[in-house]
Amino acid sequence: MSEVILKRLSEMTDVFWLNDKYEPYDLTSEDGVFTIEDIKTTEERLMKFAPLIKQLFPETENSGGIIESPVERIENMQRYLNEAEGADLTGDLYIKRDDILPISGSVKARGGIYEILKYAEELAVEYNLIDVGEDYAQFVLERFRAVFNQYTIVCASTGNLGLSIGIMSAELGFKVDIHMSVDAKPWKKALLRDYGVTVIEHEDDYSKAVEAGRDEALKRKDFYFVDDEDSETLFLGYAVSALRLKRQLDEAGIEINSDNPLYVYLPCGVGGAPGGIAFGLKEIFGDNVHPVFAEPINSPCMLLGVLSGKHDEISVRDIGLDNVTIADGLAVGRPSKFIGKTVEKMIEGFYTVHDEALYKMLTKLWDTEQMKLEPSALAGMIGGYRLQSERPDMVPGTHLVWSTGGNMVPDDLWKQDYEHGLELLDKQSD
Ligand SMILES: *Cc1c(COP(=O)(O)O)cnc(C)c1O
Repeated sequence: MSEVILKRLSEMTDVFWLNDKYEPYDLTSEDGVFTIEDIKTTEERLMKFAPLIKQLFPETENSGGIIESPVERIENMQRYLNEAEGADLTGDLYIKRDDILPISGSVKARGGIYEILKYAEELAVEYNLIDVGEDYAQFVLERFRAVFNQYTIVCASTGNLGLSIGIMSAELGFKVDIHMSVDAKPWKKALLRDYGVTVIEHEDDYSKAVEAGRDEALKRKDFYFVDDEDSETLFLGYAVSALRLKRQLDEAGIEINSDNPLYVYLPCGVGGAPGGIAFGLKEIFGDNVHPVFAEPINSPCMLLGVLSGKHDEISVRDIGLDNVTIADGLAVGRPSKFIGKTVEKMIEGFYTVHDEALYKMLTKLWDTEQMKLEPSALAGMIGGYRLQSERPDMVPGTHLVWSTGGNMVPDDLWKQDYEHGLELLDKQSD
């Protein structure tokens, strides 16, 4: 079986792989790296920082400084997809709007911002800066900034992680160096420079940019490296979304159980965001949630890593793929060092999607729902249809597409993608 999938991957034919390592989830198991307690501790830390976030980012006023996105029903899009796919999705289609997460408009506002806050807290403790009688809004005070300014945050990014880490770090007074891979869009670099961030451009892909960042940070003890290929802190920052999603579904009267399972479709790059979210969801919903990962046809690094069992020891280049895709947030050729090993038994399936399909769905999602996503964020949109054609026996349930970015994309650039999608749709109907 895996031979067939491998061949199709290297030939750039659409692939859906039902993961043969997928297992019933053992909530009592102690051999996992993390537990629900770790997720709760992470959420508590974010709560402590909420007064600070509210002060620094007025757009979080309404949510009391909590960085969260809504869940919305996308009935019109579902109707379009039913028609385009020639199949009725068995259950209701929803979208998780991380494309409009406050502060940086992508899923990276979860992990990236959390890791910076946690580090800031560590420094504040080390330097005895915290007044225990005050809330964490005190982190804006000069005595904090004076310390943070002696430290440099370093990270590598295809764009969005750099935005979330760059903006948060700069607001707290840190110096910031962001290593950008060749995929990173010029507007993301420009925006970061406006925040006073040093942007280091690389002609290479993501793995090389990470290496450069890690090398830079290793040299100095006043440098802190956010390691997207290996960060447990990022992972937990993403996992918190599961606690919040549970509350949102409860409020919407959607009960997840064996008669109404939750199917979740997650765009995957290096694996941290979808991996952390999938882990959180498994801790909350156990066997009643079925995570599925979506990757570009040119960058199926996690699929390849899990399927081959080689994880970060294999790159998509090893099977002849070039890792060039319009889905810049997913343009990663080699997966995280630990995500695949940590979550491989929790992911029901993996599939690939063509750039052209991303463009078309970008256009249609605007036309049907007036939602403005970036191409990467559409990778999960088709997941339910792909899954149900692989598994005709699956129990109908609630389908949730995780939208991962879009809000920060400048309108004129987004418009170009929209127009391109229109052209493709026109050609198809000719
Ligand atoms: C980073 C990113 C992802 C995937 O997250 P990983 O942690 O790299 O797997 C998905 N969508 C967008 C828009 C992103 O920026």
